[in-house]
Amino acid sequence: MTTVTENFSFNEQVNRNFDRAAALTQHDAGVLGQIRACNAVYRLSFPIRRDDGRVEVIEGWRAEHSQHKLPTKGGIRYSEHVNEDEVVALAALMSYKCAVMDVPFGGAKGGIRIDPRQYSVPELERITRRYTYELIRKNFIGPGVDVPAPDLGTGPREMAWIADTYMATTSGDLNALGCVTGKPVGQGGIWGRTEATGRGVYFGVREACQNAADMKAIGLTPGLAGKRVIVQGLGNVGYHAAKFLSEGGAILVGLAEYNSACYNADGIDLAGAYAHWQAERNLANLPGTQGTTRSAEALEWDCDILVPAALEQQIRKENAPRIQARIIAEGANGPVTPNADDILGAKGALIIPDAYLNAGGVTVSYFEWLKNLSHVSFGRMERRYEEASARRMLGAVEQATGKRFAGPEVDHIVHGADELDLVNSGLEETMCSAYAQIREARARHGDAIDLRTAAFVCAIDKIASSYKDLGIWP
Ligand code: NAD
Repeated sequence: MTTVTENFSFNEQVNRNFDRAAALTQHDAGVLGQIRACNAVYRLSFPIRRDDGRVEVIEGWRAEHSQHKLPTKGGIRYSEHVNEDEVVALAALMSYKCAVMDVPFGGAKGGIRIDPRQYSVPELERITRRYTYELIRKNFIGPGVDVPAPDLGTGPREMAWIADTYMATTSGDLNALGCVTGKPVGQGGIWGRTEATGRGVYFGVREACQNAADMKAIGLTPGLAGKRVIVQGLGNVGYHAAKFLSEGGAILVGLAEYNSACYNADGIDLAGAYAHWQAERNLANLPGTQGTTRSAEALEWDCDILVPAALEQQIRKENAPRIQARIIAEGANGPVTPNADDILGAKGALIIPDAYLNAGGVTVSYFEWLKNLSHVSFGRMERRYEEASARRMLGAVEQATGKRFAGPEVDHIVHGADELDLVNSGLEETMCSAYAQIREARARHGDAIDLRTAAFVCAIDKIASSYKDLGIWP
């Protein structure tokens, strides 16, 4: 079952973007073919017992797109729409995303075709553990082999089950906790991972908005402050993107979920809207907003920045001409079809592509994996030493100047970085430097290519060079 939208399956959509960028590079056709190909796909099915005693056969996949760097890395998705084409497309995107971000992993992705809302927690646990066991049997998981993470329909709970199953099955592996990321902090996770993708979306949008020439080209003023934002999807990525964009000065004017949406040109309080959504599963009746149950219409409402953060192929040929946003910030993977991409490009909209913008999650997953391999949390060794040095420095300044610093001022100045500080700092640095590289690649082509093509050019160049470093290509 492959979903084909406007003659493009999701994987063909990714490959179209690859081919456009590949044509701008000088790499050997064989190298390009190897970069584009998906190296391995494992399709599996297994039985589980439902709570009512019935046995049900569950279908799943794990695709490892590229082993140019190891381990491969990519989320696991639970959705009734999961299919092989989608898993392969998402695995390929992971290879390009990791390369763009200088995260030293190959790309992978997994999926189980279930609607998680139709299963009890014990049933989900049985499915997750059995899926993990099947991956172990085929060597499709391991800290140096392939490292899953959360995606649509999964979160820290599922990652904890995966880690526990892996550790129970592979006794004696000192690095076993690094077999999966996005775990709860108490089970080898890292502070800041849950919100990392949404925070990364914020950093990426902020970087794009800071470029005065790019903003002028789309008729906006530089800076994030005051820009009106609509977010589709109030899940992990959408909620956190909305939160950090609002905190960064943008005005949240619209929200959309699968069954409803709401709008207020003066701004929506995210905390109130989220509590309302959790309680009622309906945004159409959010007090103080105009609502609708035709949620897809929200994509077309008046705003400066549209953040699709739910599913792929949401902006298509038929609705693209009516999109009013000047910036499309791809929180989700593959939300814009190739035809819509062309239509939005012709309209002069700026698309900040998924291969860059939603890479905050894998970036912090990389930090979590490093923490698991080093067996020590970030900041543990140096925090108190840094604080003591800063205190000595302040004391010397006070002595030399006669000035006395107030208590809160001292606390602020001497604060040593804890794990969350370091994770957020590493994420910001990675998002900013990757944006600079993509923008620079675009400039090398006289700004005649879009950011998506520029991001793919960066990814292809880096993967090609790692093959060259191996000495197996011309
Ligand atoms: P999630 O399951 O936490 O949230 C998805 C949300 O979208 C849910 O609230 C769901 O009800 C809503 N939704 C589903 N269909 C919708 C529709 N038609 N219109 C509006 N809302 C709809 O998933 P997530 O982890 O936030 O992932 C969302 C997207 O971001 C996916 O494309 C995923 O691949 C991508 N992504 C996620 C991560 C991550 O770290 N979780 C990282 C990179 C990319």
